[in-house]
Amino acid sequence: MKMVLLGLIGAGKGTQAKLVAERRGLLHVSTGDMLREAVAQGTALGTQANDYMSRGELVPDELVIGMLLERISQPDASAGFILDGFPRTVAQADALQTALEAESQGIDIVPFIRVPEDMLLERIAKRAEIEGRVDDAPEVAQRRLREQAEGLEGVAAFYGEHGALCDVDGVGSVDEVFERLDAELERVSA
Ligand code: AMP
Repeated sequence: MKMVLLGLIGAGKGTQAKLVAERRGLLHVSTGDMLREAVAQGTALGTQANDYMSRGELVPDELVIGMLLERISQPDASAGFILDGFPRTVAQADALQTALEAESQGIDIVPFIRVPEDMLLERIAKRAEIEGRVDDAPEVAQRRLREQAEGLEGVAAFYGEHGALCDVDGVGSVDEVFERLDAELERVSA
């Protein structure tokens, strides 16, 4: 199964992506994790991405798209993958679609974990406190949320047109949200 998991920052996307990957034996691909790793290792990509990330801005499409397509072309992605944090723009969605179509493949399902904005801001503030993430400072978080919301609705519309989008209510415990998500996946894999 190939899937894209959508959700704004704080929606629990990363946590759910890990659970789904484990349950379904899929490769979990988080572009945020990959970029943070590149920054930590001081690679050329990391150096280029670092400024954007610390400002809470999106890393340019041309950098992220190349990184992602390379990752999912690896043998460990052949049994299926779950993308977490990609695509964030329609250009990214388009590039992914084109690359998959070239191999007669496609994305099977795109769950969108929906959580009201005030609840998201609360969760982000809590996480910033716990993890001390520079890019989760309150002012930065709000800007990221607005930026992301715009881009994400475009991406959601893209997958809506391709028939793979489904909304998942993201309010509740991790287990509750996972059960809802898993029910959608069951529907597709049945
Ligand atoms: P995340 O952990 O998914 O919230 O990502 C952390 C940061 O990495 C984001 O704020 C962006 O700066 C960058 N990033 C991650 N994924 C992407 C993407 N698909 N496109 C552009 N920038 C990204």
